[in-house]
Amino acid sequence: MRRLHNFSAGPCTLPLEVLETAQRELVDYHGAGMSLLEMSHRTPPVEGVRDAAEAALRRLLGLGEHHHVAFVAGGATFQFAMLAMNFLTNGRLGDYTHSGAWAKKAIADGRKIGRVNVVWDGTPDDYMTLPDPASVSSSAGSQFLHLTSNETIGGVQWKSFPACEAPLVADMSSDFLSRPVPLERFGLIYAGAQKNIGPAGVTVVILTDDMLAACDGDLPGYLNYGGHVQNRSMLNTPPVFQIYMVKLVLEWLEARGGLAWAEQAAAERSGILYGVLGGSDGFYRCPVDERYRSTMNVVFRLPSEELEKRFVAEAEAAGLSGLKGHRSVGGIRASIYNAMPVAGVEALAGFMSDFRDRNG
Ligand code: PMP
Repeated sequence: MRRLHNFSAGPCTLPLEVLETAQRELVDYHGAGMSLLEMSHRTPPVEGVRDAAEAALRRLLGLGEHHHVAFVAGGATFQFAMLAMNFLTNGRLGDYTHSGAWAKKAIADGRKIGRVNVVWDGTPDDYMTLPDPASVSSSAGSQFLHLTSNETIGGVQWKSFPACEAPLVADMSSDFLSRPVPLERFGLIYAGAQKNIGPAGVTVVILTDDMLAACDGDLPGYLNYGGHVQNRSMLNTPPVFQIYMVKLVLEWLEARGGLAWAEQAAAERSGILYGVLGGSDGFYRCPVDERYRSTMNVVFRLPSEELEKRFVAEAEAAGLSGLKGHRSVGGIRASIYNAMPVAGVEALAGFMSDFRDRNG
């Protein structure tokens, strides 16, 4: 067996222990005589997986009875539309911050459904910075203020959050459960699984009582958050295996020390890489405002595109996979989510120093 250091932005590396548990449990799930993949979702083992996944999430985030959890299929992209359909129909207004490629998509879908006010726009700075959260406020009558806690492509990350009148709604897809967050400010959080918590195919949605009460009740069944919450993510056949993988990853995270561990580990991993960038005499250049550099997606440039191509190819040959920047922006991107071991980052840092010595 050969495992590469996988720096892909998502799907991405998963904890080896989790993969091994899934492998062990695959064919005969806990003595049931069949795998989870083959089992009706209306059975105690599958309900048990759903319950355990939700319970682990509740423990990790400290969610109380006024928070509801749903595992929804369709990816985070589906949430751009579902969010707007639930809260922006009938002429209602939502505030959005425009921090980059993912925020842009959320805004575009919001505009198709309701009234959208962009309260902060990073376009003039090419999405390389974020506003001071204290300077961000919501509009009168707004249903929510949407932000993308970590822009996966641009590598910018909110380090603290606005405290405004409207509840915050956050796309936390690429830094979910990587640090504690001030939960009381958020009305709704959504996160596609395939970065920090599992495989693609399921999205975690957390919302408060108040948000649930504001959902548009006239939507078709699957589109309504209320239906998912009332049916405890079993409104229809859920992506059972994905939820099972999320359960395993959440339990793995808990065993390591939860969000406090994740935050410290993310600081360590990203600190190593930003340290190499900063100490490279300009050979490696991170375009992102230092105050908002992501602990999850470290983006950087080399002196030429030709060198970047060589960097990616040589890294790949050295067992460092997935470093090519997003096709829309180019450059290099190292995605270092919760499951990336420090040893993987150290291997990359060593490669970067060596590459610079040879090409600087
Ligand atoms: N939001 C963010 C911040 C993302 O990084 C991504 C995926 N890279 C998405 C939304 C879209 O997720 P999905 O592919 O699950 O729809």
